[in-house]
Amino acid sequence: MNNTDLSSFEEIKNIKKQYGEKLVILGHLYQRKEILDLSDYKGDSFALSKNAAEQKNAKHIIFAGVHFMAESAAILAQSGQIVQLPSMNAGCPMADMAELADVEHAWNMVTDALPGQTIIPITYMNSTADIKAFCGKHGGAVCTSSNAEKLFKWALKNGDKIFFFPDEYLGRNTSNALGIPRDKQFLWNPHKNEEYSAKDISSAQVFLWRGYCHVHRFFSEEHVKETRTAYPDAVIIAHPECREQVIANADYSGSTSFISKYVENAPKGSVIAIATEVTMVDRLAVEYPDKKIIPVTRSICPDMFQITLKNIKETLDNIGSRNVITVSDEIKKFGGMALRTMINVTMGN
Ligand code: SF4
Repeated sequence: MNNTDLSSFEEIKNIKKQYGEKLVILGHLYQRKEILDLSDYKGDSFALSKNAAEQKNAKHIIFAGVHFMAESAAILAQSGQIVQLPSMNAGCPMADMAELADVEHAWNMVTDALPGQTIIPITYMNSTADIKAFCGKHGGAVCTSSNAEKLFKWALKNGDKIFFFPDEYLGRNTSNALGIPRDKQFLWNPHKNEEYSAKDISSAQVFLWRGYCHVHRFFSEEHVKETRTAYPDAVIIAHPECREQVIANADYSGSTSFISKYVENAPKGSVIAIATEVTMVDRLAVEYPDKKIIPVTRSICPDMFQITLKNIKETLDNIGSRNVITVSDEIKKFGGMALRTMINVTMGN
């Protein structure tokens, strides 16, 4: 940390002391170490959404993450709670790949082609609040990379088919893990709607929206093989937003929480190569110097990197007013249904 960061760090600590339990900072695992050191809760997007829902005493929630995460916190917020995002430039290109008008159009095509069948819409957490509300309104749910298999199983138990937004790769990797045959996984390209026939649509078990995370799509099968050659003793773990071939060549696949726990529990001297956002890999390497933690290749999320000690401090200086994230009552109602369904299914309630 440079001197400015150090002084922001100390000032944030003091502000936190003044507010006590009225202020909560939630930090996603892709944030830098110093930001996570100041966070009251750190975790993946599932853990943080659960933390956000459990905050009864906090009036102020500061989300050190990207916009869709702060929106989810705003959906789950109690009356009177204020959610702030330190930088409005912290978006997510994948979340923006599923726009409500396109999703509604695709949904109408599918439901028209399949009268009498129940289609369950599931959206990845990495989606906008209006897509979460769409899923809630149509009997669906949200999922994250840590619980996608549970939510897919739940959906197939309660319906005939799944429509999954917006990450093709998480959808494919989850479908593959559940043994859903390739020819039943229908890639829905919203720019090719007019090419799809009722016969194509009826053959699918899962519709996968054509979206992706550029940070994880960057990893290739070759990167994994090169890592395997350079570090023959390494255990390779890939995030399920990576391509299928990356997952097929890795030893394990799991969410950021899974990766963190794996590294924490690995014996001293382990060599672990990780295919996910590099800020997290670098941080784990610093936190566990007795293990060799390396990235499969370096891929950074520029959106997560928008959050800094400086803009967290600025947000706290303008607590309750700067970059406040709000959602409409309708989105709060239906988005909340989709998020709570996720939490209940995951917790086995
Ligand atoms: S890592 Fe990918 S999915 Fe996550 S915020 Fe960045 S662009 Fe979005």
